[in-house]
Amino acid sequence: MFVSTRIASMSESATLAVGAKAAAARAKGHDVIAFAMGEPDFDTPDNIKRAAIMALEKGMTKYAPTPGDKPAREAIARKLTEENGVPTSFEQVTVTAGAKHAIYMALQAIVEPGRGDEVLLPTPAWVSYKSLIELAGAKCVEVPGSVSNGFRVTPEQLAAAITPRTVGFMWNSPSNPCGTAYPAAEVRALCDVLARHERIAVISDEIYEKLIYPEVAPGLVHFSPGSLEALRERTITINGMSKSYAMTGWRIGYMAAPPSMAKELIKLQGQMTNSIPSFFYPAIVEALTNSAAGVESMRVRFAARAGLIKRELDAIPGFVTVEPNAAFYAFPDVSAHFGKVSPRGARITGAQAFADALLDEAAVAVVPGEDFGACARGHVRLSFACGEELIVRGVGRMREWVAALRSV
Ligand code: PMP
Repeated sequence: MFVSTRIASMSESATLAVGAKAAAARAKGHDVIAFAMGEPDFDTPDNIKRAAIMALEKGMTKYAPTPGDKPAREAIARKLTEENGVPTSFEQVTVTAGAKHAIYMALQAIVEPGRGDEVLLPTPAWVSYKSLIELAGAKCVEVPGSVSNGFRVTPEQLAAAITPRTVGFMWNSPSNPCGTAYPAAEVRALCDVLARHERIAVISDEIYEKLIYPEVAPGLVHFSPGSLEALRERTITINGMSKSYAMTGWRIGYMAAPPSMAKELIKLQGQMTNSIPSFFYPAIVEALTNSAAGVESMRVRFAARAGLIKRELDAIPGFVTVEPNAAFYAFPDVSAHFGKVSPRGARITGAQAFADALLDEAAVAVVPGEDFGACARGHVRLSFACGEELIVRGVGRMREWVAALRSV
């Protein structure tokens, strides 16, 4: 059967691929410690679950309006206006099947295929952005960060990457896979550069917004580009319930766009998925208005794990790790070990080979850096959205395995 080039040429999500490999090894009876999936180990808070159960029992089982029901959209608009300083009315909000679908739709809406459009992507960046940028018909232009600058790109780098073909800026702070957030002043400085180029749309994926650890980086706060007057009319702000509320399996995301763009996005969603399951809407309202304590208790646990995993990784010779201060990822540079040979004779040619051999030989799953951008090739990603005991045991196994690598 014929498969279109744009789908056939797309790479599989590296994070999902490692997750599947780890699951397969587990099914064979191996005791795998998986740092692969970006998924909180906590359960969805009970009050949020109850809101959905009650809605089901009340019969909220019919089609809902494509962008979502009004109370949920109003709760989202209020949250964006009050917490993020992004003035939003409910008409500007679309509730989506996960933030991932919102990103897909936003990119479809801003890119004109065949025109040579370019979308700028600060890297290391989450694996799906590049594929979704290319699927929309644009060239993905990476703006690379590095360990030495804490993975943060500078206004000068951004300005130098802009061309007459740049139509979009794909932004993600706090970042997957870096595990870091930009200080607000640095986001503003990048936005000042973007403000000078009217045709550039900003897509701001703020899904890790609530997971910021001033315990690690004092004074660190989240900043939304859509709060700036200069960018308000060309920013699509994306967020979702998956990470902050431990709701990955519910598949709920949302986006807010300027009114004229919001209409187009709703039109697109109406031809794709229509609305998300209607009985989820009261759960969104419950999460946004009545769950701050639950979110905070998870955040505090993640902050402690950030410190723990950094200490554990620092005990592995040759690893260089930027201190995680947000989200739930550590992204060490492990390239000092490339070129070595593993205990069972695998040649560690790069991050992919490192991750494959680590899983096969030590039953620890990490995601190789290659798919997070060219500058990430020397890295592997560990999600620390798992229990403290697993962090200590898993990184310990990694340390023993690394110690047994031989130079040739
Ligand atoms: N953006 C980023 C940066 C992510 O890490 C993820 C999940 N891995 C998503 C979006 C997608 O989240 P959702 O579950 O809402 O589709």
